[in-house]
Amino acid sequence: MESIVLFGPPGAGKGTQAQRIMESTGLPQVSTGDMLRAAVSAGTPTGVEAKKYMDAGLLVPDDVIIALIKDRIQEADAINGVMFDGFPRTIPQAEALAGITVVSHVIAIEVPDDKIVERICGRFTCADCSAVFHDLFNPTKIDGKCDTCGSGNFKRRADDNADTVMSRLNAYHEQTSPLAEWYQTKGIFHIINGDREIDQITEDILSALK
Ligand code: AMP
Repeated sequence: MESIVLFGPPGAGKGTQAQRIMESTGLPQVSTGDMLRAAVSAGTPTGVEAKKYMDAGLLVPDDVIIALIKDRIQEADAINGVMFDGFPRTIPQAEALAGITVVSHVIAIEVPDDKIVERICGRFTCADCSAVFHDLFNPTKIDGKCDTCGSGNFKRRADDNADTVMSRLNAYHEQTSPLAEWYQTKGIFHIINGDREIDQITEDILSALK
């Protein structure tokens, strides 16, 4: 089993690219952020614990995240590997992951800090199929209608606001970016310029994965 890691700051476009790469590779997207949001909505003990951190733009403790991933990786669709989106975010998470699956590629999507806030503050997703959009940079083709499934049901994340973004960016620089060096020494780290057209980025990611 070989897995891919999508790495990068909040708002880099990991979720958008994950959906596109999933179509080409067949690997399921495993987003710890999505899993945590589902736990928060369901009101599970994990969700109640995680919400405090998420609302503050802080990382959820490693033991909570690692337990979630260990369960998820047991599911039938993970047998040939998965595409991690937003995981690992700390060195202990990466070490735990190394004991669970082989990571063949780390795709690092780079976007400058000054672009992150505007990218995060305008984004929304389809509540029915999870397609990702942005008010300015990636609007729906028909106003109020999802391009993928036609639904008119959209949602915005509670933590996608200017205040929380700064804490999330800070957590990224302090706790997550040291992982870049960790993966670079393993020779599996591919840097992709994420400050371009969505299609160009997908093209570069797919060639890095060949
Ligand atoms: P995301 O959807 O990836 O932007 O994650 C949203 C929030 O969930 C983050 O700001 C963290 O509070 C939490 N979170 C998601 N993934 C992780 C992770 N791998 N480690 C710690 N916290 C995480």
